[in-house]
Amino acid sequence: MSALKGRASSLTLPGRILGPDDGANLGIAIRPLPRRSSLAVLRADPRQAVEHDLIRCLVCGSAFRQLTNTHLRRHHGMTADEYKRQFGYNRGRPLMCGALQRLYTERAVKIGLAARIRQRPILARPELRRRGGARTIALEEILTRREVRERGRTGVL
Ligand SMILES: [Zn+2]
Repeated sequence: MSALKGRASSLTLPGRILGPDDGANLGIAIRPLPRRSSLAVLRADPRQAVEHDLIRCLVCGSAFRQLTNTHLRRHHGMTADEYKRQFGYNRGRPLMCGALQRLYTERAVKIGLAARIRQRPILARPELRRRGGARTIALEEILTRREVRERGRTGVL
């Protein structure tokens, strides 16, 4: 894996529907952290660690197409949930580059994934209902809300 590190490559997406093993193959580091954005800057706004063709690990700065559970566990001893909590990502944030997110979204739409999801957690799990929708607001959401507010004030779109 590390032999591929630093290999400059643009994202070439396969012209087929991804199989279960593709995520691991896409989890390779594709380029070192550019100097323009330091880890401190990315940690202050974790959304910036997600770009069209890469996502940066906010622990070590490596760039990936997909930040895998394997990387987080092996190199940083944490789960994806712990990673999202530590760096302030929304819980539902997919840890992958923008292009892959789009690919998965298009694929999900194509096979009608939403229609196949029958279970609604809020109905199936009474303990969720008791919490009354209470949840912690992640840094990511705070930043996005602030930007939306400021955009509204200045009238800039
Ligand atoms: Zn890392």
